[in-house]
Amino acid sequence: KEPILELKNVKTTFKVPKGILKAVNGVDLTIYKGETVGLVGESGCGKSTLGKTIMRLYRPDEGQVMFEGQDIWRYNKKEKKEYTKNVQMIFQDPYACLDPLSVVSDIVAEGMKIHKMYKGPELEERVLELLKMVGLNKDHANRFPHEFSGGQRQRIGIARALSLEPKLIVCDEPISALDVSIQAQVVNLLKRLQQQMGLSYLFITHDLSMVRQISNRIAVMYLGSLVEIADSEDIYIKNRHPYTKALLSAIPIADPTIERERKRILLQGDVPSPVNLPQGCNFCNRCPYATQLCKERKPQLREIEPGHFTACHRAEEM
Ligand code: SF4
Ligand code: MG
Repeated sequence: KEPILELKNVKTTFKVPKGILKAVNGVDLTIYKGETVGLVGESGCGKSTLGKTIMRLYRPDEGQVMFEGQDIWRYNKKEKKEYTKNVQMIFQDPYACLDPLSVVSDIVAEGMKIHKMYKGPELEERVLELLKMVGLNKDHANRFPHEFSGGQRQRIGIARALSLEPKLIVCDEPISALDVSIQAQVVNLLKRLQQQMGLSYLFITHDLSMVRQISNRIAVMYLGSLVEIADSEDIYIKNRHPYTKALLSAIPIADPTIERERKRILLQGDVPSPVNLPQGCNFCNRCPYATQLCKERKPQLREIEPGHFTACHRAEEM
């Protein structure tokens, strides 16, 4: 297994009137070539900030983002430009980032023009090829974004991301705005493209039902920290963190393999402010298993079984 992206103790903070908002608070995570890592957590937990930190849109205050073994903040101009091709992002609402006054073929061609990858008839041909890859065709090329359904717009967003021949795609809630029937289609498309092109994905979502279908591994985030990382199935069946259990017990899906394992955990209390984090475990004011130790010392992410990491003092008892 070869890493494509490594996050090492990444901290991304923002100055706000009340102090320092620790959006991403010391994240260690490796994404290997060709795999999908699902990043799950409630809204506001820092997962989009982490995605944007990977995109080089936010510079971390501490720690390193390494792509293919190189620190992305030590790039020269040429390497920086290469990185903007290698790593692409797709969004929850592709409509918001598709120029309403451009036809689809121009939207898909734009990046390739900027990076001088193709021109003339070759460019036209490549655009049609990309549309075909995402399940659209020639007839769609000269239409405007508003003429498409949500699922089709997401396909346009994917074609545009693919046009730069990336190695890693950060997918930020790419199916959350779509009907459930369409969600499966987009997930299947992403899986097929991954196999064809050897892509790696970071798949960010608050929805624990669909992420299981696409992820090899899942990382659970709470208040800026990763609390559990494991193979996708282990997150559902052998989870060891009370927060993962609580998240899973809240999904209203009729999946018997989860249902059998899960005890309903109702969360009490509010999520603390990321400006004012608890001293000990971030989860201690809501956790039914919290002890005095939990209030005093922050648990580190540790490997409790090969490849299974949990940040909980009481992981062994769970
Ligand atoms: Fe709960 Fe303590 Fe584990 Fe935190 S460390 S999740 S408070 S048991
Ligand atoms: Mg978000």
